[in-house]
Amino acid sequence: MNYNMETINFMAQRLAEMFRLAVIEQQKAGAGTPLIAHIENGMREALKQIGQQALGLLLSSMQTTPASQIDCPCGGKLRYQRMRAAQVISVFSRVTYERAYYAGCPCKQGKAPLDEQFGLEPGAVTAGLAALLALAGIEFSFDQSPQWLQAYLLFDMAENTVRSETEKMGGLQKECEAELIQQSQDEAYLQERERHPGRIPRRIYGAIDAAKVRIEPRAKGGEQPEKQEAWRDMKVLSWFETEAVPPAQRSVRQRQKVERQHLALRAKNLRYFCDIIEADEFGKLLWATGCSLNADLSPELVFLGDGAVWLWNLVFRYYPKAVQIVDWYHAEEHLEMVAAVAFIDPQERSRWLEAVTQALWEGQVEQVIRACQALASSCPEAHKAAHYFYTHAERMRYDRFRAAGYMIGSGSVESACKQIVTQRLKLPGAQWIVEGAVHTAKARAAWLSGHWQSLCDRRSSLPLAI
Ligand SMILES: [Zn+2]
Repeated sequence: MNYNMETINFMAQRLAEMFRLAVIEQQKAGAGTPLIAHIENGMREALKQIGQQALGLLLSSMQTTPASQIDCPCGGKLRYQRMRAAQVISVFSRVTYERAYYAGCPCKQGKAPLDEQFGLEPGAVTAGLAALLALAGIEFSFDQSPQWLQAYLLFDMAENTVRSETEKMGGLQKECEAELIQQSQDEAYLQERERHPGRIPRRIYGAIDAAKVRIEPRAKGGEQPEKQEAWRDMKVLSWFETEAVPPAQRSVRQRQKVERQHLALRAKNLRYFCDIIEADEFGKLLWATGCSLNADLSPELVFLGDGAVWLWNLVFRYYPKAVQIVDWYHAEEHLEMVAAVAFIDPQERSRWLEAVTQALWEGQVEQVIRACQALASSCPEAHKAAHYFYTHAERMRYDRFRAAGYMIGSGSVESACKQIVTQRLKLPGAQWIVEGAVHTAKARAAWLSGHWQSLCDRRSSLPLAI
């Protein structure tokens, strides 16, 4: 939208004059000069009131001369009743406007065409405000969001409204994903995409992990609610590309990495997806989102994950040619665990750990397996670790992966779990039902993936219940 700068200048002068008089009045009353923060907040309050009135006036002014009757969605006719006031809650708080109201169809439905035209739902929040409420809801616990919003918006919103708008946003993300899934199962679409693929990433990574979410006990079909809380796995997938970190921007950790690996990579174009669903269902999301990014057409597709069998099964089913890498940090952690329980003498422990870590770094997985087996008779953890390294041996050829310049630590997906699950879903006191947890996490994932604006656009054009 374009505005007339002259009008803005004129109004700014009027506003400045109004505040100038207020400042002088306060000085005359002997209350001193107001501090800048007071002036700023006063102006924000005034601008909010101006917005509130202006938005109401604007909406009312868009009402054209009402026709005497219009079509009803049911196929019948609606007759003009009268001009009727309605309220919506906007970013300027409650806004009242007037519009023509139609009723009198045998179906008993009423209708205000202006509401439809502007995507307004009387009594509800506008799409503009909804986006801000949801933004608070993906960052703060729902009970803390109102306080935070009050400071920014200068009016009170109920915790439940924040919750429902946040979940609605996640619902829209789910809708987008369902569309991608449908598309990715459509043969005609896939063929067309191969002919005109658009941008194909030269090298792209997928990383999969899961994190536990505490789910509230809930009544099942009339039964008493289960007393025990349940933990469910939130599966998290991230897609990303990498770039070298310029020397000047390297952190201490990255500088150490360069010394060790001669390479410091960081993730870019990160996209996150998540859900609490069975592996088979998650596989559909894995395939659909990969298609949307042309991951399957990329000459180099690399997957990172921990040792969970379900994720490698999915990778193999949908992307059989992909390079599979067990995340370095997870593998290293297994060795640390064995060392911690198998040795009493700290020197012996660190000698062992240093040797096997080095062997693992060199891709000498057989050597690592032998070292674990040697401890297995007296240490069940070592026995388990030997099995783990044996199962994933080909996913741990770190010498080859490093030579190819691959990222071998899935810091990105671990931070995905942290950012999506830990930092929001595990806030103190947070208890979830599955749907609430999933929708909130999906909304947060969309924000972190730079997909927020398109959800806001969707929210604006939601078909409204009349
Ligand atoms: Zn009707």
